[in-house]
Amino acid sequence: MPNILVSNISFGVASPESLTKLRSLANVVLNEKSIRFTDQDFIEKISNVDILIAGTEKITRSAIEVAKNLKLIVRIGVGVDNIDLDCALENKISICYTPEAPSESVPEFTLSLILNLIKGISVSDRKMHKKNWHRPMGRMLSSMKIGIVGVGKIGSKVIRLIKSISPGTEILFYDPYLESAEQALKCGIEQLFRESDIVSLHLPLNDQTGGLVDGGLLSSMKKESYLINTSRGGIVDEAALYQSLKNNHLAGAAIDVFENEPYHGPLAELDNCLTTSHIGSLTQEVRALMEEQVVEDIESFICGQPFIRPLDGFNFCGY
Ligand code: NAD
Repeated sequence: MPNILVSNISFGVASPESLTKLRSLANVVLNEKSIRFTDQDFIEKISNVDILIAGTEKITRSAIEVAKNLKLIVRIGVGVDNIDLDCALENKISICYTPEAPSESVPEFTLSLILNLIKGISVSDRKMHKKNWHRPMGRMLSSMKIGIVGVGKIGSKVIRLIKSISPGTEILFYDPYLESAEQALKCGIEQLFRESDIVSLHLPLNDQTGGLVDGGLLSSMKKESYLINTSRGGIVDEAALYQSLKNNHLAGAAIDVFENEPYHGPLAELDNCLTTSHIGSLTQEVRALMEEQVVEDIESFICGQPFIRPLDGFNFCGY
């Protein structure tokens, strides 16, 4: 039987049936300490592993090079920016992921962040916890222009959700690979940042998008506007964002993803920054679906069947 290492935390909690099925297919080692794997953890545990089930922990060249038997990495989730893809390709390691599942949960989460920010919910809650009766003035979605950067599975559903509760809200979008989008007007990235009251990011992190939202774009935003990032941390310059919030140029930001996670940095100290611990897709339902999908592709691999959800360019032969 193949050896499977699960570096992702709490695999099988949402879908115990998936873990049972996995155990019938392979020898499974779970991340029992429930601590995010470091490079050192991988190096210690990966040498005889055939299949790795991973979350967003970094899978570096040094880890992959120790994993002489590794043939398949299965990402629970969608972003693969945490994997050294060049090294995986050189070693002909297949990669599967679960691209559809998070698009059920991240849009709902994004909408809740938008509403939370513009209604001052977390601000009021934090003051109440300190016995302070403070009544922040909110805004209505209908009077705001929203800019969506990246209109794929998640961005397009965010647009639909906003329009379904506030049909009058004007929506701009920027996506270099898309000519048009339903219910939103295409524009350049500079115009989007300059004109939007709320900017929400839904693009992947890669060589082109790392550091894309820099000090220049942030300072071009309207005074008292908002930034939401549920995509990936490395896309936003965190130091520049901190300054923008500290100076009250931006009225607020909601940040679910950080350049280095777990995040313990200064954004979490600002009253006008709503920070969450990369939980955009983390719902019971979606997590269970992702675990089922991961096991489906591992079963295909072991049985020599085609993958169901391979990453383009990383679809090599079976076990
Ligand atoms: P997707 O591939 O369906 O859509 C991404 C869109 O971004 C595409 O339309 C693409 O054309 C566009 N894009 C690419 N480069 C761009 C650029 N430079 N500027 C603007 N747009 C660009 O992906 P998705 O499923 O919609 O997910 C989007 C991102 O959300 C993922 O890459 C992932 O990083 C993030 N995500 C976060 C969580 C979370 O828990 N917070 C969960 C799932 C996904």
